[in-house]
Amino acid sequence: MAKDVPEGITPATRLVTAGRRADWTGTPAEPGAVVNPPVWRASTHLYPDSKALHAGKPNADGHFYYGRRGSPTQWALADALTALEPGAAGTVLYPSGVAALAGALLAVLRPGDVLLMTDNAYEPTRNMGRGLLGDFGIETRWFDPLDPASFEAVIDERCKAVLLESPGSLTLEVCDVPALAAIARAKGLAVVLDNTWAGPLGFPALERGADISVMSLTKHVGGHSDLMLGSAAAGDKYYAKLRRTAQALGQVVSPDDSSLALRGLRTMGLRLNQETSSALELSKWLDSRAEVAKVLCPMLPGSPGHEIWSRDFSGGCGLFSFVFKGKDGAARDAFIDALTLFGIGYSWGGFESLVTPIDPATLRTATQWPLPGMDGADRYGVRLSIGLEGLDDLRADLERGLAAWAAA
Ligand SMILES: *Cc1c(COP(=O)(O)O)cnc(C)c1O
Repeated sequence: MAKDVPEGITPATRLVTAGRRADWTGTPAEPGAVVNPPVWRASTHLYPDSKALHAGKPNADGHFYYGRRGSPTQWALADALTALEPGAAGTVLYPSGVAALAGALLAVLRPGDVLLMTDNAYEPTRNMGRGLLGDFGIETRWFDPLDPASFEAVIDERCKAVLLESPGSLTLEVCDVPALAAIARAKGLAVVLDNTWAGPLGFPALERGADISVMSLTKHVGGHSDLMLGSAAAGDKYYAKLRRTAQALGQVVSPDDSSLALRGLRTMGLRLNQETSSALELSKWLDSRAEVAKVLCPMLPGSPGHEIWSRDFSGGCGLFSFVFKGKDGAARDAFIDALTLFGIGYSWGGFESLVTPIDPATLRTATQWPLPGMDGADRYGVRLSIGLEGLDDLRADLERGLAAWAAA
């Protein structure tokens, strides 16, 4: 779909044109009459007569016969995401990012199979491996994402899929996706990548070797901290499987949320550029501070993963972490509570800045925290999601936080 958009168009322009098929932004008499696909709220789609009903139930993308197959609003969002993902044959929408990860993994794994999971995966993804997938007789094995040799060594004939996430949750290690994907594909594994951090503008996942690219649209695409959605995009090899599994699970998303996500998508490029630029400035500044032991920000030269990020990524975002030099959890709480512009809460990728404490040590199986080379006393960190506030204001706020940390 979106075949009417000329090839070679830049991503910035594609963000503006994608998903706006004329027959979804108007009436049959006046196609393209409005800019945005209207919110089609529908469970029932009416047929003109019995002949039309007996003609069958179209299941092709963008066709409707019942609300669970989506209305033009949902298809416009799916269509737009497909247009932004080079190599995608289609995109399936889910009610959250976690639902998208479950949908993707259930599409490629069967009882008796083994899933290989990166050790820095998002916590609910780790729990899914141990919980839901385990209950279905699927075993999960964790591996160090920064060690392709150990990854290759752990693969045997029962391994059917690998779940990558780069940069990883909380600690933001950037792994060599092309190298890991090549190893996995050579052994017949499906490569599922959680690409929420960079999205397709920063990391064209399918072109870099992933078979299925998953995103929590709750973050950058929604962008305004007021919706939950997820997506999974795939090329010809896996798209039909993804869609079949989602249909079997009864997955459908609301037209209202889809409309909000489409609206968010239009400004995603601008927001990401601004947030990336502020995050880089703030991470440089934090790196120079005596209170800070380590900044974990792929965009920052010298930070873990920066070299691979520079090689493989065309953009970043506002999400990064840092670790305090010594002290304890109470000092960290004093830092967080002294901030006035950073909301305290989970999630990220909104227009407003957020802070959360991180404790990666409890979320490691195949690797260690603190990272090798770090002082074991430096273990208390925070994750910052940098929003669209003024840079000087954010820096002043962090300065307040560091003073409170020092005084604690
Ligand atoms: C938030 C998040 C998810 C889950 O998305 P939801 O929409 O909250 O379900 C998945 N992966 C990563 C990396 C995330 O940060």
